[in-house]
Amino acid sequence: MWALGPLAGWDRAEARLKTSARIVIAGAGAAGIALANRLSRALEGASITIVDARERHLYQPGLTLVANGYWSSEKVIDRNERFLPSTVRWVKAAVAEFDPDANRIVTEQGEAIPYDFLCVATGLKVDYASVEGMEAGLIGRNGIACVYDNPEHAGRSWEAIRAFAEKGGKAIFTRPPGGIKCAGAPLKMAMLVEDRLRREGARDRAHFHYAVAGKGLFSQPEINEFLKKHFPERGIDIHWEHRLVAIDPARKIASFATPAGRVEMDYDLIHVVPKMRAPDALANSPLAWQSGEFADDGRWLEVDRHTLRHPRYPNVFGAGDCVGTPIGKTAATVKAHVPVVVKNLLAAIADREGEGRFNGYTSYPLLIGRGRAILVEFDYELKMVPSFSFISPYEIHWLPWVMKEKLLHGAYEAVLRGRA
Ligand SMILES: Cc1cc2nc3c(=O)[nH]c(=O)nc-3n(C[C@H](O)[C@H](O)[C@H](O)COP(=O)(O)OP(=O)(O)OC[C@H]3O[C@@H](n4cnc5c(N)ncnc54)[C@H](O)[C@@H]3O)c2cc1C
Repeated sequence: MWALGPLAGWDRAEARLKTSARIVIAGAGAAGIALANRLSRALEGASITIVDARERHLYQPGLTLVANGYWSSEKVIDRNERFLPSTVRWVKAAVAEFDPDANRIVTEQGEAIPYDFLCVATGLKVDYASVEGMEAGLIGRNGIACVYDNPEHAGRSWEAIRAFAEKGGKAIFTRPPGGIKCAGAPLKMAMLVEDRLRREGARDRAHFHYAVAGKGLFSQPEINEFLKKHFPERGIDIHWEHRLVAIDPARKIASFATPAGRVEMDYDLIHVVPKMRAPDALANSPLAWQSGEFADDGRWLEVDRHTLRHPRYPNVFGAGDCVGTPIGKTAATVKAHVPVVVKNLLAAIADREGEGRFNGYTSYPLLIGRGRAILVEFDYELKMVPSFSFISPYEIHWLPWVMKEKLLHGAYEAVLRGRA
């Protein structure tokens, strides 16, 4: 399990590596901060700079709980400065340009920062413009929910969900094509809202629809099969190959591209999940995949899927949601990515080949309803890799819910501090 596994990667007993290398980390989210902590402990004499304009730290795995009224927004908001080591220089600016041919980045304020090694950890961009008529300002109004970007959106989504739970009507939950962070979140949102209405005795006042862009509900085959039965059993109608392309908030109409052409559906509540892609500065840079599925899908950072090292710019590494690999985009993956990057970066500084290998690990509690979840953990081969012998990855259980609600936040902070 991402939260409770042994300390991976760098061994604390190992001597610190002496170097005068200049290391720049782009992005101070989960991956960037964890990298800053581990690198600053592993290296002596290095100059480490982290670049990010955002000062708040957001515990994003808590957003589904905020959007369903189980947590307050405040619970997921913290300050980056609490987690960053004092030896790391923090440039409070966004990267505007990655210039790997000149080994430098340029901030939005025009400051050029040269590096010997670069770690890209910029997370991803929620592309509201991919749905015509959609914008972040609409969240919480006219029955529109969207849990993805920040606690304010999650809180406003809860307002929309609470209003729907009182009145009932027709709810649509959407899933775009391509890589998204926490691919379980669109499913969790549908199941938690359905569960709320059931528990409040209001289920017969509502119709539930799940519109998915592709032909599956989940990439891991056994969980996919389970959900294909479980959703209809709960009265959630699945609409295959329905990609949300437009929304008309005033008329409460959603439009979907389908193999049979454009289809319109009315709604009282809609959970909009826009397409996700690499942030613009990364997407427009030579560091992005230039061709193939990870270029077409979101212009993600090109890395070798096992070493997390850039194949064309070997002094560049990537971690977290921004990387273009088949599986990931969870905090659990960040926990697995960071020790691999540190190991391989340390080896590169010492002019050796690194032995760190990422196996595609991803995980989260798939929330079925209040107090019930499945602990999903799998790898690149889509094989389940359960951490605990006493929780079946095929069983709905109370324990993964308790983990989600009570334990994982603390464990996430241990990951940030490079201690787990
Ligand atoms: C609703 C929801 C539920 C989730 N549930 C789970 C769960 O149950 N389990 C789980 O393991 N994971 C879950 N996740 C996923 C998890 O939160 C992310 O995978 C994780 O936060 C990724 O870390 P990151 O560092 O890559 O990105 P982030 O934490 O998003 O950080 C990226 C940082 O990069 C910065 N940045 C962006 N562009 C630039 C730029 N141009 N220059 C400089 N900095 C930049 C941003 O400001 C940000 O600080 C969930 C996510 C969401 C949204």
